[in-house]
This record gives sequence, C-alpha cells and structure tokens, in this order.
Amino acid sequence: MKDFQSKLNEYAKLCVKVGINIQPGQPLVVHAPIEGVEFVRLIAKNAYEAGASEVYVNWNDEVITRLKYEYAPMEVFENFPKWYADGLEDYAKKGAGFLSISAQDPELLKGIDPKKIAANNKSSSIALKEFRNYTMNDKNTWCVVSIPTKSWAKRVFPNLSEDEAVERLWKAIFDATRMNTEDPIKAWQDHMENLKKKVDYLNSLELKSLHYTSANGTDLVVELPEGHIWAGGGAVDQNGVEFAPNMPTEEVFTMPLKTGVNGVVYSSKPLNYGGKLIDEFKLTFKDGRVVDFDAKVGKDTLADLLNIDEGAKYLGEVALVPFDSPISQSNIIFLNTLFDENASCHFALGKAYPTNIKGGEKMTEEELEAHGVNNSLTHVDFMIGTEDMSIIGETKSGEKIQIFKNGNWNI
Ligand code: ZN
Ligand code: ZN
Repeated sequence: MKDFQSKLNEYAKLCVKVGINIQPGQPLVVHAPIEGVEFVRLIAKNAYEAGASEVYVNWNDEVITRLKYEYAPMEVFENFPKWYADGLEDYAKKGAGFLSISAQDPELLKGIDPKKIAANNKSSSIALKEFRNYTMNDKNTWCVVSIPTKSWAKRVFPNLSEDEAVERLWKAIFDATRMNTEDPIKAWQDHMENLKKKVDYLNSLELKSLHYTSANGTDLVVELPEGHIWAGGGAVDQNGVEFAPNMPTEEVFTMPLKTGVNGVVYSSKPLNYGGKLIDEFKLTFKDGRVVDFDAKVGKDTLADLLNIDEGAKYLGEVALVPFDSPISQSNIIFLNTLFDENASCHFALGKAYPTNIKGGEKMTEEELEAHGVNNSLTHVDFMIGTEDMSIIGETKSGEKIQIFKNGNWNI
C-alpha cells in the first residue's frame, strides 16, 4: 500500500504530465478551492519540476462565495470583472495550460435569489467568451480534475462523518482516475488508446443520425452534421501537444446537427448547475429546439439555463458512455458533472466544440452556423444514459447499426 502522501503526489504528477502535459517554458494557471492548498502545492512543485515557467493560482472559497451571494447587490452579479477575464486571456495568449479543480458543495447556493445566480452565469459567460475560445478550440491545453472538499464529500456521503466522507470520496476519485493501478500514467495511456479505437470506428461510419430509446420514455433522434468528428480519449492542442481535458474521462463525443434533434429525452441523474440541483427532468425537442420541458426538482433553474440565450435551447454535444463504466459501477452519485457525465451517456445544452466538425477551428461564427453547429454563451452537460438504453445509428446509405445495446457499447 502506498501511503496517502505519496499517492497525492502521484495524482498531482498525473494531472500535470497527462492532464495538462506541461511543456518547458509554459505557464500554468490553476483554479482551486483553498481547501485544496496541500494538493495545489504538489501541482506547483510537479509543474515547475517539469519545466513550467510560472504557476499562477486563482483561489476560491465557498464561504466567501456564499457571503457574496447573500450580501452583494444585483449589479455585482450583472457585471463580471473585466480585469479577470482579460487576465485569463493574457495567459491564454502566452500559451498557458489551464488546470481547474472542480470541487463544489452542490447545494452551496441553496436558498439564494435565483436572479443573482442567473445574472452571474450570464455575465460570466459573456465576459469569458473570448477566453473560452482558447480552451474550447483546444488552442491551449486544459484539464478539469477533482479533489474532495468537506462540504462536497458530506453531500455525497451524508451518513458518514466529515473525515470519513472525505476519505471515501478520495477513494472514489482515485478509483475513477485509475490511480489505484500499479502505474497510473501507463493505465491512462492504455485507456486513452481504447477510447481512440471507438472514436476511429465511429468516424469511419460517417453516421447520419442516432436514435435513442429507453424504457424511461426517452425516444429521440439526433442527426449528425456532414463532416462531424467523434473525439475522446484525449485531445491535441495547436502545437501538437496531447493532453486529457477531463480526468476521469470515459466519453466518446461529437456534435449534433443544431436543427436535427427531434423527440423527448429524460434525465437519468441529477444535474448540479451553478450551485443548484435540477433533477428528474425531461426535454422535448422539435427541429433542434427545446419546445417543452419539465422537472420535479429545480424547474426554475432549468428555465434559467434554457433562457441564457437562443443557443441554450439547442444541443451542442452528444456523448456516449457505457453503463458499465467504472464510475457508473461505483453506484455513487457524485453530484459533480465531471464524474456523473463520465458515468452516463449525456448531451450538452449550448455551444458545440468547433473541434467536432472538419475545419471547425478555422470557421467564423457565421460559417459554423451555416454548417449546423450550435453556438451559445453556455455549455452544460446533462446525463441521460440508462441501463437499457438503445442507440441505433443510421449511415448515409440507410444501413442501421446498433451502437449501444442495454446501456453498453455494442460495437
Ligand atoms: Zn461530455
Ligand atoms: Zn460537455
């Protein structure tokens, strides 16, 4: 058994070497909760040792965030700080890698005025639009990882003590990120190669559409645009550096044809959106647009999400994840999209990754639109995969291929 400290260091190394794949002379920007200071120091050490020119850490704290929502006036949420967005863009222009540590109490903003949350989601989306072009087009390397925080761990394991819950969540995160294997870096390389095989096969099919059905009522046809590209198991930045945008990752994904989604889809896991939960919801699509929706929990929050802009009412990502993925098999609902999306087939509302269509990175917004690529200020994944999910692909020649059967890969 490796002791926890050496394991933590190994995890930091995995994030720096495989997640970001830091290059000599490259700056690294880290977004992290202050509770993660010990881990972030290891990130910095490993990054400098690997040749990073500078490690800049942007700290956040849940208590201060919550106080801000309780006390600050509306205009604070409507006006996202420009200097902050400019700073990130500045680092992006310098070729920085961006490592985000996603660890949030899913109920942090419970009871807060939803208008403040919606205003913040909107103003931050607008202010960070330019910056997000760098990461969403894979110009720069970027990676999202997690560590437990006390508040988050207690939401996932409410029956355990705080310390036990944190320990349990560490174990779950280490399991999900293949840290509990002999050689995690090697395990990741093998895993990414396996995902790439699926990607290559799906790309060879040049599918026209996918038909999703499930006993929960899901019956949805998603058309795929001409020239769509399946991706997964890692990405490559503009300099040819391979990196892993998400750790863990189990998904193989592409973009839908913006106006080609028809039918109804039911959620299969709760969605934590900006500190609020949306659960047991369904969306009805006609020609790509959400024309009806309902939710047992958080219907107002879902409405706010759909109303960010016109593009938020259309899909921007189609992702396939087997029901028998290790994260799904853990039977833990993480209440954190990084994990829950990798335990389940999912879609995203909002902006599509331009890298999911041939030549997309070089297209203008108008050209992307003309190719059926959705654009929006937002991009939010939501989980729809079930144990009995069937997905039938149809090729241009009308041939039908069962891609998913009983929730798992059939190819
Ligand atoms: Zn996804
Ligand atoms: Zn996504």
